[in-house]
Amino acid sequence: MTLKYLEEYRDAGLAKKYAEHIARITTRPWKIMEACGGQTHSIIKFGIDRLLPKSIELVHGPGCPVCVTPMSTIDAAIELVIRYRVILCTFGDMLRVPGSSQDLQTAKAQGGDVRMVYSPLDALKVAKAHPEKEVVFFAVGFETTAPANAMAAFQARQLGLENFSMLVSQVLVPPALEALLESSTSELDGFLAPGHVCAITGFQAYESIVGKYGIPIVVTGFEPGDILQGIDMCVQMLERGDARVENQYTRVVRREGNHEAQKMLETVFEITPKAWRGLGTLAASGLRLNSAFRAMDAEFRFGLNPESSEERTGCRSGLILQGALKPDACPEFGKTCHPDHPLGATMVSTEGACAAYYRYRYLTEKKL
Ligand code: SF4
Repeated sequence: MTLKYLEEYRDAGLAKKYAEHIARITTRPWKIMEACGGQTHSIIKFGIDRLLPKSIELVHGPGCPVCVTPMSTIDAAIELVIRYRVILCTFGDMLRVPGSSQDLQTAKAQGGDVRMVYSPLDALKVAKAHPEKEVVFFAVGFETTAPANAMAAFQARQLGLENFSMLVSQVLVPPALEALLESSTSELDGFLAPGHVCAITGFQAYESIVGKYGIPIVVTGFEPGDILQGIDMCVQMLERGDARVENQYTRVVRREGNHEAQKMLETVFEITPKAWRGLGTLAASGLRLNSAFRAMDAEFRFGLNPESSEERTGCRSGLILQGALKPDACPEFGKTCHPDHPLGATMVSTEGACAAYYRYRYLTEKKL
């Protein structure tokens, strides 16, 4: 076991103090889920799970936006490229996520015009430069990225870019947490909520979950010290039988969130049912362009109807995203599935749990 990265972390001493405090106050087993891919990567990279007493189990949730994008939406993106010959602008992470028969990188190799961008505004530049072509931006993400994507739609309308549209796969975190708690197999005792998402929405969005399910939620940052403090706050609540939303990430998150970003979201998007990889279709769990921007919705514009498609045989990323399976317990992990030959999105994405285990455990320790 290596804690190499933790030893190099500037606040390693503080992080270890939180871990010691957690060990001192814990009297029984608790299962805590982090619902953020950035937190998952920190936990595995810095060995945070290994610092904790055995009675605290960390479970990785549906916190990676690329990973929860259903295969049917990947297929729709490929259809836009191959059949409708659009220029598809996407973040790099989406290129190798397997669709039902191929991925976007393969579509590109077959002559499709797929371009990697770093922001939705880059896609607007492509649309401006190619007025003769349809340009579609693949808008994937949680509440964190939604305001920038909304801004792109807003600016496209201001600029009169009639050749620009968006394939939207925007998801919302609170309904996913509720779906996990509603599941008959849920044994979760607490959540670490994603700090960056809460910077936009505020943590008020989680108060109804606490009220309904009596489960503590701690809004938490991404550094080892943040995560261990968040777990400490969660365990303290659990041990005294308390359930509230507490905010560990006070340097970034306020209860009411970012009003300007929320206003931009309301201007461009509306709430809709949404399909999630691993969780199925959840009511009011996604965003789509509202009626004022509907003409910019690529599904509407091209008459796409993404149908649900099954996960590839052998890939258990649905279970990974529900927190029901750890990556190293997947029989394909490190054998038929690795970053050079990913069987599922959770091995492709830089925020995917399988990718984290592969990079920080399998490659460094070879034996889990
Ligand atoms: S290790 Fe590979 S096959 Fe297994 S769940 Fe992860 S992505 Fe799917």
